[in-house]
Amino acid sequence: MARLQAIQQLYVSKPFRELRRTLIVERGARCERCGAILEDTSQIIAHHKVEITLSNLNDPAVTLNPDNIELVCLDCHNREHNRFGPVAHNVFLVYGPPLSGKSTFVRQTARRGDLMVDMDALWQAISGQPIYDKPNNLRFNVFAVRGLLIDNIRTRYGRWNDAYLIGGYPQSAERQQLLEELGAVPVYCDATQEECIARLYQDPQRVQVRQQWEGYIQSWFDQYQE
Ligand SMILES: [Zn+2]
Ligand SMILES: [Zn+2]
Repeated sequence: MARLQAIQQLYVSKPFRELRRTLIVERGARCERCGAILEDTSQIIAHHKVEITLSNLNDPAVTLNPDNIELVCLDCHNREHNRFGPVAHNVFLVYGPPLSGKSTFVRQTARRGDLMVDMDALWQAISGQPIYDKPNNLRFNVFAVRGLLIDNIRTRYGRWNDAYLIGGYPQSAERQQLLEELGAVPVYCDATQEECIARLYQDPQRVQVRQQWEGYIQSWFDQYQE
């Protein structure tokens, strides 16, 4: 578990995230394997050709070396990693303010067959609305579905490989409870309020819902406890 936690932390670190953005600008927003154009750059995964391990984790010549990084789409990344086989039943609690890069992080590390409990995706699934439009009157039902999936994770029900719980989770008591109940590893996506607002204004998918999301960002920072 400690090894995994250390490796996950690389993918939320500022230097790695900045390098990923730089490479996308330099190389273009497409998969270097199959050539697919990826207009939504959050879909682009920066894959390490030499796999990150505990022994090379602190070696920037491996972790932050552009020559060791290939920009790929989700399909190509799944194909690449399937040969390593499944990783059994690690649980990650991925939290942080809205637009801090939680989904981008999960795309970096998750594999096909992992269980995703992503609040934005749950909202979309049961509202029938475009992603990021969250009709507030459905919140009880969204939370009920989330509760069921959390229960699946807690009881290790089903045949998933790893599980990811993705959401804001600003309150430390709630996080502590989940971490204990689920035996989860915390992964904090760090970003300032200004960074989140700036990303909101650059996000083509959230143009219609900007005001709503400014409110979500504000309320996350109001509630956040370390
Ligand atoms: Zn591809
Ligand atoms: Zn990879």
